[in-house]
Amino acid sequence: MRNKLVAGNWKMHGNLKNNSTLLGALIAGLPKPESRIRYAVCVPFPYLASVQDTLQNTHINWGAQNLSQYDKGAYTGEVSADMLNDFGCTYAIVGHSERRMLFGETSQVVAEKYAVAQRAGLVPILCVGETLEQRDSDITEQVIEEQLKAVITLAGVESLTKAVIAYEPVWAIGTGKTATPQQAQDIHQFIRKGIAAQDKGIAENLTILYGGSVKANNSTELFAMPDIDGGLIGGASLIAEDFIAICSAV
Ligand code: PEP
Repeated sequence: MRNKLVAGNWKMHGNLKNNSTLLGALIAGLPKPESRIRYAVCVPFPYLASVQDTLQNTHINWGAQNLSQYDKGAYTGEVSADMLNDFGCTYAIVGHSERRMLFGETSQVVAEKYAVAQRAGLVPILCVGETLEQRDSDITEQVIEEQLKAVITLAGVESLTKAVIAYEPVWAIGTGKTATPQQAQDIHQFIRKGIAAQDKGIAENLTILYGGSVKANNSTELFAMPDIDGGLIGGASLIAEDFIAICSAV
């Protein structure tokens, strides 16, 4: 039995007042999950301290949406893995398509961030996924292979025992256009098979999330697919009722 996870990605949303209301509703409304299920919120850096205060001793974990590939030093504006540890983070998202596309993060930089996060004891949530153009050109699998290869080359296939992968087709993120459960399953299976070719046991135990317009009304069918082990949730993670419904579907 694999671990399952539903993680919210708040992106650049929130303020102290709204966060407190949202987290209060999540604490009250999310039942304690079974032992193999985890819930988490990945929040903007400035809110980590207050999120830590609010969520410690609850069954909701928290994490960051990015981190520096460097350990420390003269890197103005960057946030290190050790700093995230100071605020009790369990997870760090790496390689979100918005980071890759809007901030020029290459697969090599993403791999470095993944490795730095793991060295600090954080669980990286590694995002991979194709654009619509790439899907239409029938190169989805090559794109995902290249994104995964960079990480496996740098950190080794065994690093996947302490990581989560999120398949997020770029065309489905924030668009309201979800991959069908079968489209998502096909890519999840492709990812798992590719890793199984290197290590069967690691592939079998790897948590692979789907992300891209997951909502309360489509999460049940997505999570029912055999290789989908939960979700990375953007917009719907900002609405307590919706996020609770999605968490309850895993
Ligand atoms: C995301 O930000 O990772 C995401 C999947 O967003 P949304 O759920 O809004 O599509």
